[in-house]
This record gives sequence, structure tokens and C-alpha cells, in this order.
Amino acid sequence: LFANGPGFWQEALPQLEYGSHKYTRGHALVLSGGITATGAARLAARGALRIGAGLVTIAAPPVSVPIHASQLTAIMLREMASVDDLNGIIADKRFNAVVLGPALGVGNGTQELVAAVVKAGRPIVLDADALTSFAGSLDTLARLTEKTDTVVTPHEGEFFRLFNNENEILKGFSKIERAKFAANYLKATVVLKGADTIIAAPDGRVCINTNGTPLLATAGTGDVLAGMIGGLLAQGMSSFEAASAAVWLHAEAARNFGPGLIAEDVPEMLPTVLHKWH
Ligand code: AMP
Ligand code: MG
Repeated sequence: LFANGPGFWQEALPQLEYGSHKYTRGHALVLSGGITATGAARLAARGALRIGAGLVTIAAPPVSVPIHASQLTAIMLREMASVDDLNGIIADKRFNAVVLGPALGVGNGTQELVAAVVKAGRPIVLDADALTSFAGSLDTLARLTEKTDTVVTPHEGEFFRLFNNENEILKGFSKIERAKFAANYLKATVVLKGADTIIAAPDGRVCINTNGTPLLATAGTGDVLAGMIGGLLAQGMSSFEAASAAVWLHAEAARNFGPGLIAEDVPEMLPTVLHKWH
């Protein structure tokens, strides 16, 4: 167990090169929810872009496309009416990582989207509804997550919904022990969020974040974090380092503000924070 900080992952941050091209800086794909739930995908996409991914695309159901189209500038947009559409999109090898879950909707449809991304073998960040969709079918999720480089980012509520059937085992476990258990169970990097976010790797490594701030206790900051992790994965960072760096940089960005910070402030601050720590 160690305290998360730049000393651990600074050297592993993606490096800019003189001849860098947007495609060599990684392309992250973020899946969007329906017409009343599009903001989460834009927050995640903004996180991915502001942590340095060269390209970010949102794939959205047809009803959501006009909403995104009216809001997006540097972020690209694709229509995704079905899992087949998603398969078609990620057949393009230039998508280096996929973020899914924020406001995506709970249900079998979301399970199918996760399965499609895993089948395509891309590093994947699973948050929010992508996790809750597997409540009651944890083993189905574990069979998917073990197959590809995965980061899961539950808050406490999402964690307990997902691991509900493991209640007996988890009784009396500390937060650190729960994160380690989940990482081993899913063979994935687990970011168990909260004031004292824990990051656990399937190989047993675990760190605790120490720069958290309650300024982050506001709607949408978790979506930004998921996007930031996806942005680092897209740039080729490995999952435990990517998750740890994103959690720390997310809080460090927030610390430049006072009460009234909103989720969209966090990505906008990242270039300034990275300027110091890169
Ligand atoms: P979510 O629960 O998905 O909306 O994500 C909220 C984000 O804000 C996570 O990254 C949490 O770790 C962070 N967060 C929420 N409350 C606090 C707090 N009191 N102190 C530090 N970080 C927090
Ligand atoms: Mg969330």
C-alpha cells in the first residue's frame, strides 16, 4: 500500500515528441446515453481530450446526435443505433480505448455494448451504468473484464450494487480490502471512489489517493474522471498507472477552485496542472 502521487506515475505519463501527430497521441471513444442524458458523455470526452488524447469521438444513439452536434467543437461524433453500429465503429483499429457507462442506461443493451468492446480487445473504462447493468450478474462481467485491459470506477453505491452477492465475504473488509478483492475478482484495475479513493490492480498493487478534495463532490466529476482514465489509456499508459495518475490530476485540477466548482471546470484546468507535472 502506498500514497498515490506523481513520483509513482510521472515518468509513465505520455510524452510529446517533435513529430507527434494527432493519431499518434491516441484516439478515445466515449459512448453516449439517450436524449435526456448526453452531458455525461461530453464531460468524459472533455476529460479525455484535456488529458492529451489526440482525438476523441462520441458514439451516440440517433436521438442524441443533434444535441451533441450543437454542443461539440473539437470532439467528433458518430451515430450508433445498435451494437452492430458499435462493432462497425471499433473495427477501426485507430480507436485505442473506450469509455462507457456514464448516463448510458441500465440493462441488457448496455451489457451487450460492453461485450462488443471487450471482443474488439480495446482497453476499456467501465463506470456508472456499465457497472450497475451487471448487478446480479457479476460473473458475466468478470468473464468479460478478464479478457481485456479494464479499469472499473465505482463509487461506493455502485460497488455495493455490483458486489451485493459477495456480502458475506466482504463483511468486515476495509475499503482497501474491498478494492483488492474486486480487482482480483474482475482481473481489472479498480478505482473505488470517494474522499479516500483507492486504486487496486489485479496483481495486488494498491494505492490510496491523498489529495482528494470535497470540491469534487458535485455532479459529473466522476464522468470527467472516467474520461481522463480513458484518455491516458488511449495514449498507451497501462491501466494501474493511468488510473492512479488520473485520480491524482483530477483532484489537483479541482484544488485550483473554490466552492462552486462544477464538473466542466476540471478538464479545463488540466493543461495547467499537466504543465507543472508532465
Ligand atoms: P461520482 O460519484 O461518480 O459522481 O464521482 C465523484 C468524483 O468526485 C469521484 O472521483 C470521487 O472520488 C470524487 N469525490 C466525491 N466526493 C469527494 C470528497 N468528499 N472528497 C474527495 N473526492 C470526492
Ligand atoms: Mg458517477
